[in-house]
Amino acid sequence: MMDACVQPGLLPVHEAIVRMLGELAPITATEIVSLYESLDRVLAEAIVAPINVPGGDNSAMDGYAVRHQDCGETLTLIGESFAGHPFKGELLAGQAVRIMTGALVPAGADAVVMQENVTRQEQCIAINQVPDPGENIRRAGEDIAQHAQVFASGQRVSALDIGLLSSLGITQVRVTQRVKIALLTTGDELLAPGAHYESGKIYDSNRPLLRALLSRLPVEILDLGIVPDNPAALRTAFLRAREFADLVVSTGGVSVGDADYTKDILAELGEINFWKIAMKPGKPFAFGLLGKNARAGACWFCGLPGNPVSTAVTYHQLVVPALRFLAGETVSDLPVISAIAAHPLKKQPGRMDFQRGIFTGVNGINSVASAGLQSSGVLSSMSNANCYIRLAAERGHVAAGETVDVILFDQFIR
Ligand code: AMP
Ligand code: MG
Repeated sequence: MMDACVQPGLLPVHEAIVRMLGELAPITATEIVSLYESLDRVLAEAIVAPINVPGGDNSAMDGYAVRHQDCGETLTLIGESFAGHPFKGELLAGQAVRIMTGALVPAGADAVVMQENVTRQEQCIAINQVPDPGENIRRAGEDIAQHAQVFASGQRVSALDIGLLSSLGITQVRVTQRVKIALLTTGDELLAPGAHYESGKIYDSNRPLLRALLSRLPVEILDLGIVPDNPAALRTAFLRAREFADLVVSTGGVSVGDADYTKDILAELGEINFWKIAMKPGKPFAFGLLGKNARAGACWFCGLPGNPVSTAVTYHQLVVPALRFLAGETVSDLPVISAIAAHPLKKQPGRMDFQRGIFTGVNGINSVASAGLQSSGVLSSMSNANCYIRLAAERGHVAAGETVDVILFDQFIR
């Protein structure tokens, strides 16, 4: 099914994603890693709380543990409860215990009075503000209850999650193995960063860009470097890539120019699934199967267009969902925000635009401005941007003040 206003022969962006996810199979091999190594990895099993957090009722304040019904009278201090050193006895009528934040609430006490609300004279206290039952007590299990499921399988581990897992005393987790990626850039004009500059050549910016972006995902990278625009060299590189990788990511050579051989070699060694997408930038994006390697594993292929902005946008919109799915992650769509266009935006109907924008949300007004030149070769405006302005395929020029969809850049594109 094609969207009404999509240029014929081009696949709508969401259909391209659905088709890729329909072909790919998530990695099933798993491994156990320490908590410190688990950042950004994908859990391969659900995590169930082995203990309550907090483990026992404890004080949220520095103050006095009391029985709230006794608070009208003068109370006698019978001891202290420190974090890590609980008071061992039981509180009886007319008694109180000095207590610090995080210390266990002694048996018999049912509230904590903060010390600012108490007048103390030696071992006696008078309470100036009577607490409610349970006041200033953090209950056992109120953060996490023992036996509750804390995380589902398929969750990507964040720094916050590592803190939470630590609070449960967990020191290692089972995660899916890293996705193996072979990376290459193509083009006779490309110079490796650090090479002597020559007129007519350009530095390869896509490979450093993609390596940096890929480092945010649970992948292992084989960098095959710059491959010249030559079918034999490409074939050799693709065969090496196939032996190693679950997914090959290349840039350049997927258009219809005379030196664009990437698709031909993909079709020769494997099969093209699709290669033209109704998006701007990024129309020539090729996805397919590069065949099986000696381990009998399928090796998939994403051929990204060579212009650096097209590389970055297609990587983010198409390769990231594919990779997260391959890594076993349960992925939801990026949140879309409505914003007012701060000025007119140029747009031709036919493809979905991912213009680069600068979003501001001040005093409840969401506004977005263009980040600058929107040419797909202009990486500086994308580096300056903080969001996409996503304009539906059928839409034409946007007037200032019209509402547009904004998708904020996330950690996978910054
Ligand atoms: P292609 O997709 O090979 O037709 O390349 C499209 C444009 O992107 C051309 O201007 C190329 O010079 C440029 N380009 C291709 N690969 C890279 C790269 N790795 N780094 C920077 N620019 C590139
Ligand atoms: Mg090229």
